[in-house]
Amino acid sequence: VSVLYWRWRSPMQCHTLVIGGGIVGLAVAARLSRHGATVLVERHGTLLHETSGRNSGVVHAGIYYPDETLKTALCLAGATRIWDLHREGRVTAHHCGKWIVATDDAEVPALDAIHRRMMSRGIPSREVPLAEVATTEPLLRAVKVIESPRTGIVDAASLAAAYTADLEANDGLVALQTQVLGAEHLAGGTVRVHLDDGDSKTHIDAAAVVNCAGLSAHRVAALLQHDTVLQRVPPLHLWGGRYASCVGKAPVRRLVYPVPLPSLQGLGSHATIDLGGAVRFGPDAFYIGRASASADGPATVDPEECSYDIAATPGGESGFLDEMHEGVRRFLPSLPRERLVAGYMGIRPKLSGPTDGFKDFAIEREGNVVHCFGIESPGLTSSAGIADHVASLLF
Ligand SMILES: Cc1cc2nc3c(=O)[nH]c(=O)nc-3n(C[C@H](O)[C@H](O)[C@H](O)COP(=O)(O)OP(=O)(O)OC[C@H]3O[C@@H](n4cnc5c(N)ncnc54)[C@H](O)[C@@H]3O)c2cc1C
Repeated sequence: VSVLYWRWRSPMQCHTLVIGGGIVGLAVAARLSRHGATVLVERHGTLLHETSGRNSGVVHAGIYYPDETLKTALCLAGATRIWDLHREGRVTAHHCGKWIVATDDAEVPALDAIHRRMMSRGIPSREVPLAEVATTEPLLRAVKVIESPRTGIVDAASLAAAYTADLEANDGLVALQTQVLGAEHLAGGTVRVHLDDGDSKTHIDAAAVVNCAGLSAHRVAALLQHDTVLQRVPPLHLWGGRYASCVGKAPVRRLVYPVPLPSLQGLGSHATIDLGGAVRFGPDAFYIGRASASADGPATVDPEECSYDIAATPGGESGFLDEMHEGVRRFLPSLPRERLVAGYMGIRPKLSGPTDGFKDFAIEREGNVVHCFGIESPGLTSSAGIADHVASLLF
């Protein structure tokens, strides 16, 4: 990713300041740079350092979430943009397709419901004949398979590079190692954002600010003194998602998902592939804790102190691999446990705790600031859709 390093000079001004150099912040900065001078600040020394660098890279087709939600609408819009960028040769992606699999008769009604939803949304789909399943994915056990040919995978770094290029083409800037410390709201609506660039403390005056701080979005809202917004949106809950890499010959050639869990806290043990065809299983979903205060009490975990070490997670490495193998055996019964090794993990910034149902993305405007809360999956796919939505709230 080409990044312009910029030494800060005070006093500085910009039209829009975007907080967070994940995929959503980059998409938003690229989009808003059409309206005026845009600066993106990221506290780490690299882009995609947090959740945007720890996911499956799947370009979802907008299948799973309820109608008339931001997750569905922005996923559909964002996926269209990613495939357009792919056609233009600006991002690396692969239309590998996804098979959603019922492994026994009890799962067929849920799979049929998913298929009906795909058809009602105009999402391309087909039932794969079992003879074709046996010849193209011989290791797979399934009683019924629905294909989503529009689902695929994308290299998040190439998508970030495309957004960064669009930002820079409009004279926008990315400032790394620059952390937001707080803000003042000046007369006339200008927001003065206080920053630490590692060497010195400074500030920048912005006509508009967008909080794309991912796991820290609730914290950044508090730093921007927007406690009223925090009272409107649900608290932040952290859910870990661990992957197991599959060593040896790839057992499948496409994305394979079992019928998802009713809670949608995770999509079940599924197989994803990377652009080289290597297979990994996961992510699973385990609850870490509440990361912002709520009526139930104060935060129980700090997103900035969380470990990404699978050995330190519930069950440790071998417990996790045993559990993942149990799930994978549902659809790949002959795959030995020894083929699974611990991979990496990511953390989902969810707005739902263990006893809550579905919660949508919460994208809220307060004054001249837009906050993006709960940008979990399908946030990578939705990034360009989120950017258009933020633009519609501001301009
Ligand atoms: C395990 C897992 C698998 C997933 N798989 C998929 C998938 O296959 N497809 C899909 O569409 N989505 C997927 N997602 C969701 C997707 O990864 C996220 O929705 C997306 O990456 C969120 O991007 P973001 O820019 O909002 O957040 P982040 O990537 O977390 O970026 C936020 C940035 O803000 C910065 N920041 C925070 N506070 C400050 C501050 N005070 N000052 C300056 N900078 C700050 C952070 O350093 C960070 O870099 C997955 C998520 C997980 C956890």
